[in-house]
Amino acid sequence: MLRQATFLPTFAGWQKAARAALLAETPPDSILWQEIGENQPLLDLAEEPEPAQPARSTVKVPKKFVEVATRVACHADPQRWALLYRVLWRITHGEHQLMEIAVDADIHALAQMDKAIRHDVHKMRAFVRFRTIEHEGETWYVAWFEPAHHIVELNAPFFADRFAQMNWSILTPDRCVHWDGKDLTFTEGVPKSEAPLEDAVEPLWQKYYAHIFNPARVKVHAMTKEMPKRYWKNLPEAQLIPELLRKAPTRVNSMMAKSRASAAVDFHPAPVPESDDWAVVKKAACGCTACPLYKTGTQTVFGEGSWKSELVFIGEQPGDSEDLAGKPFVGPAGQLLDRALADAGIDRQLAYVTNAVKHFKWVPSGKRRLHKTPSPREVAACRPWLEAEMRIVKPKVVVCLGSTAAQAVLGPEVRVLRDRGTFRPSAFCEQTFVTVHPSSLLRAPDEAAREEAYRLFIADLKKVAHKMSAV
Ligand code: SF4
Repeated sequence: MLRQATFLPTFAGWQKAARAALLAETPPDSILWQEIGENQPLLDLAEEPEPAQPARSTVKVPKKFVEVATRVACHADPQRWALLYRVLWRITHGEHQLMEIAVDADIHALAQMDKAIRHDVHKMRAFVRFRTIEHEGETWYVAWFEPAHHIVELNAPFFADRFAQMNWSILTPDRCVHWDGKDLTFTEGVPKSEAPLEDAVEPLWQKYYAHIFNPARVKVHAMTKEMPKRYWKNLPEAQLIPELLRKAPTRVNSMMAKSRASAAVDFHPAPVPESDDWAVVKKAACGCTACPLYKTGTQTVFGEGSWKSELVFIGEQPGDSEDLAGKPFVGPAGQLLDRALADAGIDRQLAYVTNAVKHFKWVPSGKRRLHKTPSPREVAACRPWLEAEMRIVKPKVVVCLGSTAAQAVLGPEVRVLRDRGTFRPSAFCEQTFVTVHPSSLLRAPDEAAREEAYRLFIADLKKVAHKMSAV
């Protein structure tokens, strides 16, 4: 026999009705869920009387079910109540782990509804725009929003927290919420005509939006996916979007022209002499102004070591100590490299060490100069010096320390963590090896991580030592 369960269409209302049905051992296919207040045609159903002695007195369900059910109760699909009860019934009738079975048809349906609610909640938080009105001598902020689901009550605490200092109302066709600085209250939904259309702040906001709109970054598909057109009509900035999009190509061209003009000022070809004399090339590098980094670094830090060496180590750029000393790898990372080379059986005195970029790039932080990774353009500008060094040294093995060096030598596809520990040919020599930069060991979060990183670094360097004995 079918039993009609009437209830307020909220999670709490359904929960009360579901608990009663469960205690009465009413199976899911014997219940017709009837929301109170809805004008649905009444079916000719007999109502089953409540049993005098309930078969059970308590209902225990996983916390996850309650969390999901709280959200799914806000879904617009009228079938959600029956689905929720079916899952509840199954959980309480032997399928305790049901919520963990993602491939189950009921759980899948529940997850889809839950996802839709989360999406709607996110959109409401992103696209509510308040307009000001004067109400009983006070400024009141009012927004109009059209959610896809019944999420106003679910989302209200977020807005109360975010806009705690304001008096505000969010009006929707389904439900309205109001905050007076102390309490949240809810009223019936209203038509859009009750929402204010424009206020004095709106032109300012539009001006700001037009200013921050970046035509070079605009991706119309991604933009309309994130900001579906159904929300546009309630967003003041949306009125600007078609015009901003229409002008985007012109603005991009103008930005690129400005960028090219500035590049022409800041970058020049590096003045590398033809000579194969290392001292001559180094002297020329010391006067290099090919990229803006000559302004930030104290001096050019050229490579050092035996220029007849068969082994070359290439790092990223000089650090603070190297910049002041004018020598590569003399700071904390260089000292760590020395120790690691000794542990791996490599004599640094027999190697040539240099960097992909010869000037120190940094940003101020109080009294300190913090390392800043050089840009690909700066690396490219400095590459002729690296090529000259390699032309003179003619190494049999090149070791790239870290990502900047590896990409300068082997190309942008190289990934240090993926490609470390292997030899491959490059423009500089047949045996080019990739490993981490020793400074990465210094940044390890704790002693154990540092020890493990050092162990892996030594293992890489031992491969280099082994290769050197074979070439
Ligand atoms: S970083 Fe390289 S290219 Fe740039 S100024 Fe210094 S030496 Fe020249």
